[in-house]
Amino acid sequence: MRILISNDDGYKADGLQALRAALATVADVEVVAPEHNNSAKSNALTLNAPLYVHDAGPGVRYVNGTPADCVHIALTGLLGYRPDLVVSGINNGANMGDDTLYSGTVGAAMEGYLFGIPAIAFSLIDKGWTHIEDAALKARDLVQHLQSQLLVGTRPWLLNVNIPNRPYAEIGELRMCRLGRRHAAEPVITQISPRGETMYWIGNAGPAMDDAEGTDFHAVREGHVAVTPLKVDLTEHDHMGHWAERLAGLRAGGGA
Ligand code: MN
Repeated sequence: MRILISNDDGYKADGLQALRAALATVADVEVVAPEHNNSAKSNALTLNAPLYVHDAGPGVRYVNGTPADCVHIALTGLLGYRPDLVVSGINNGANMGDDTLYSGTVGAAMEGYLFGIPAIAFSLIDKGWTHIEDAALKARDLVQHLQSQLLVGTRPWLLNVNIPNRPYAEIGELRMCRLGRRHAAEPVITQISPRGETMYWIGNAGPAMDDAEGTDFHAVREGHVAVTPLKVDLTEHDHMGHWAERLAGLRAGGGA
């Protein structure tokens, strides 16, 4: 099994190091990850600046780009082979509900998925890496299980996995979850720069709005590993008929 590892926290991050160490015991692993922190970069690609790749020891390379850049160039030339699995993380903090739309951790995994490769985004629900080794062992357990089920190196799928921040023995079983929802983000924060200009800082993510049973928020609060299969199609299929009716009167080139 050959696994490409990336993340959004940067190649030096404890979460990536722990994931790499754990997966290296069961697979051939290579790291292609961002040079610096790339939180909330989602699926962004760098199109108007060159990307540079540097070695950081055997099987570890870093890129002055986004998480999606890293996976993209790895799969389109850098690796020279097609990995059986793309994993991203383990992120420093949760990626649940709406977070998945902004997350660079999910973006890196999704890039693998878009290239037709099974992919997993791993996140530790609290920041600070307290139990990162334990989370990495849980991630390894899941990867090994998926391999035993012949799901690795086959047709693409994409899993979003959030792991409780606690010792290995105290982490609950896997729960299949739908994504919850967050409230809108907290207000923008303004400060005055030393040169008298107003600076705006994006506010923190909002608290959970839908954390009902069955959601990722609920599962991790109960100490379980939350697993959500993701899809990429954003079409609102249920509303297509409604919009077809509403737009039926509109003719090309004509007004009302
Ligand atoms: Mn991150």
